[in-house]
Amino acid sequence: MLCAVKTYQGSCHCGRIRFEVDGDIDHVRSCDCSICQRRGALNHRVAKESLRLLVPWSDLTLYQWGSRTAKDYFCPVCGILPFRRPSDPTAQELREGVEPFDGWAVNARCLEGLDLDAIPVKKIHGSRIELLEGLSRGERAVHEERTYSQSETRKKLGKWLR
Ligand SMILES: [Zn+2]
Repeated sequence: MLCAVKTYQGSCHCGRIRFEVDGDIDHVRSCDCSICQRRGALNHRVAKESLRLLVPWSDLTLYQWGSRTAKDYFCPVCGILPFRRPSDPTAQELREGVEPFDGWAVNARCLEGLDLDAIPVKKIHGSRIELLEGLSRGERAVHEERTYSQSETRKKLGKWLR
């Protein structure tokens, strides 16, 4: 099979966040969970070492909510969320055979040189995943609009960074 892995340049809208990602983007994922639906992302998952941030991690703001195992990184200037670390599988998902994913979900809309109209879209029903039973989304969501220092981020994300 032909290897179609390419290196793509990615950025937020204002350009403060710049990154490179290696991937064979043969499909994208359109998820209907509460955050993906609102931001309209078309995600593609890559291994953790396939994403290289070209600016300091401290230039990003981290938002965590729900099970708090996902890491949503966005630009504090223009608000674009170019990539996220997906949440760990819930107990229900593990029972259903969902494998833990050790990587990044990159918003393909933030990558240069992609013809998104030509890439198949896979529908993902994240909204059906029960995070914390008995709580509304508003009660689950906790804004953490704080920017970590680079060393603090590296410490917290040790296993994600080379
Ligand atoms: Zn920006």
